[in-house]
Amino acid sequence: MNKNSSNMMALAPNTSNKRETVCIFGTGDFGRALGHKMIQSGYPVVYGSRSTQISNLIPKDAEVLSHAEAAQKAAIIIIAIQRQHYNFLTPLAEVLRGKVLVDISNNLKLNQYPESNAEYLAQLLPGSKVVKAFNTVSAWALQSGTLDASRQVFVCGDDVEAKQMVMNIVRALGLTPLDKGSLLAAQEIENYPLQLFPMWRFPIFLSLGLTAFFFLYCVALDIIYTYIYENNNFSFFIAITIPNRVCPVMALVLLALVYVPGIFAAIIQLYRGTKYRRFPDWLDKWMLCRKQLGLIALAFASLHAVFTLVTPMRAFVSWRTGKGIISQALNNKTEPLDHTNAWLSDSYLALGILGFFLFVLLGITSLPSVSNNVNWREFRFVQSKLGYLALILCTAHTLVYGGKWFLSPSAYKWYLPNIYILSLIVPCAVLVVKFVLIFPCIDKPLTQIRQGWERNPKYSE
Ligand code: NAP
Repeated sequence: MNKNSSNMMALAPNTSNKRETVCIFGTGDFGRALGHKMIQSGYPVVYGSRSTQISNLIPKDAEVLSHAEAAQKAAIIIIAIQRQHYNFLTPLAEVLRGKVLVDISNNLKLNQYPESNAEYLAQLLPGSKVVKAFNTVSAWALQSGTLDASRQVFVCGDDVEAKQMVMNIVRALGLTPLDKGSLLAAQEIENYPLQLFPMWRFPIFLSLGLTAFFFLYCVALDIIYTYIYENNNFSFFIAITIPNRVCPVMALVLLALVYVPGIFAAIIQLYRGTKYRRFPDWLDKWMLCRKQLGLIALAFASLHAVFTLVTPMRAFVSWRTGKGIISQALNNKTEPLDHTNAWLSDSYLALGILGFFLFVLLGITSLPSVSNNVNWREFRFVQSKLGYLALILCTAHTLVYGGKWFLSPSAYKWYLPNIYILSLIVPCAVLVVKFVLIFPCIDKPLTQIRQGWERNPKYSE
């Protein structure tokens, strides 16, 4: 036999390596979906149920027995039953002694009970080895095979061997087990499926609040003011004009807010002369949601790009252009090209396009599939250096666009500044402070602090 054929023999599946029977208590949605997946992966499955009648819904290769009979056939028992019914397990304590019980249950509310469901199960059946697993995978995902987003299965338990047995099953099902330690971690694992976009909450509320504020601000100045003092009804501005003012303002302000916590952190570290003291909670939380703030900013910038592209199609714009042409014709006078204006308009468009390009690049590199493929230095280069460049370009885009009005009294309706002036406050402040922070006399001690140097070390050698 040549070398190749012996290698092929080694790679051939070992058909004698039969998987151990797994018992599932409960023939509900999750029990059936998990059983189906296990049978597909080569595990013989036996159900423990209150009714031993076979129904069409139960995977056809599975057996259905009473709880006690089914438990005797397997070393691992998956409890696919709601926590409130766990009491029925107490009379089965002897049959379940020494067996691995997998608690897959979830609750309806965060921290619903004083102890986790898995710990409760362990208290009810002290002779069994309880392992928490599978609760973050849904029955629907198991059935439809759409497990991409939930491939990770958190596993925890006090018995290392029992945990290993469950992790082997998880792997055999094509999922990735993540050992979270002892059963103490069960409460946290049970809370995961109940969390609703925890990192997105602050960025979303902030964006909604700011959008509402800027929108109403524009409605007051561009529609109500014009109606009262100029007798013009521009209420249709609500559809495109005002959103196209609010979106770039939001994109710029949110992008600047991504860099504010870094600036605060630098100032705090310089002031304290150490990096070994915790930041205030609000700053920690703000730092953790910078990616989400940046992605929402990118969404606003994309909307601004789309709104701008449809501008030539608008009836109001055609009417205004036509009016300009007719007025030139009536006065028999062609207005010469205003070169300053031409430069300004081309420059702000170019700055906007470049800024948007970098914005998109920042968004792409924040995707896990991309960020996993760049090293820490490359990631920092894109997110920090190119991020600041995007902020500079977008700020310059707004300055060049609105700069000519900033000093004009007509821009201050009801003594209120134009929305573009408001939008520049945070980005300009961030850029000025960042500029000061990169001065060598400040940057050097800050770099030393970040490398572990302390002005007043607590533990001196
Ligand atoms: P389900 O469809 O309501 O099924 C629960 C099963 O428990 C029933 O089919 C029944 O099985 C059994 N049962 C009900 N009352 C009982 C009682 N008084 N005594 C003994 N057994 C009883 O619920 P499920 O959606 O499958 O969920 C089961 C567990 O999985 C829950 O703890 C849930 O939190 C967890 N889970 C579910 C999902 C999901 O996507 N559905 C995802 C993750 C975790 P028999 O009629 O065969 O006895």
